[in-house]
Amino acid sequence: MLDTAFFVRWLTATAAAVERDADLLTELDSAIGDADHGSNLQRGFRAVTASLGEEPPATPGAALTLAGRRLISTVGGASGPLYGTLLRRTGKALGDAAEVSPAQLAEALRTGVAAVAQLGGAKAGDKTMLDALEPAVEALGSAPPPDGSSSFPAAARAAAEGALATVPLQAHKGRASYLGERSIGHQDPGATSSALLIAALAEAAE
Ligand code: ADP
Ligand code: MG
Ligand code: MG
Repeated sequence: MLDTAFFVRWLTATAAAVERDADLLTELDSAIGDADHGSNLQRGFRAVTASLGEEPPATPGAALTLAGRRLISTVGGASGPLYGTLLRRTGKALGDAAEVSPAQLAEALRTGVAAVAQLGGAKAGDKTMLDALEPAVEALGSAPPPDGSSSFPAAARAAAEGALATVPLQAHKGRASYLGERSIGHQDPGATSSALLIAALAEAAE
């Protein structure tokens, strides 16, 4: 079972990955956007880390909804409301249980990713964060692997592959879509940060 401490570890590991790779995320965004994705997420996840310390959440659901709220209130760019919605809706789907199973988390994440698709009007193949998030949710499946291992590492690999697979795509949503065909040949910054988020999930489970 996954307790509140697991979710705090996940969010903290995401914040650390964002700090480590902020320059990369901004560099990717400078090629097909406005060069602020790293700093946007850095601001957001610093606020998340601070809030987790100031008002420790009592449940997994509360940890994710708190993080989602902070991202929405501190990140100005498109990614703030989108990641905020992902975490808030995932958190809401977990309800107020003190512990959740990996299968419950997989199902809740599916709900959260669907909410991101609905809010942004994007689908897989549009060269957005969904190109990493959707394969991750697929890899998590609805049941744990029969051999008793965790499906988080497989989800992390699927998300990383999904982010890489955005390189040859043309962007159809967000700022990068303004570039039309010139968006081809660059990795999507949001798909790249989504891969960090799912890698952090696998890290928290180790
Ligand atoms: P902004 O584009 O406002 O500067 P960021 O640079 O922080 O915001 O985030 C850009 C990322 O947000 C993109 O790389 C893409 O993955 C994601 N994104 C943008 N628009 C959408 C959308 N409509 N649906 C899903 N993801 C989106
Ligand atoms: Mg940007
Ligand atoms: Mg911006």
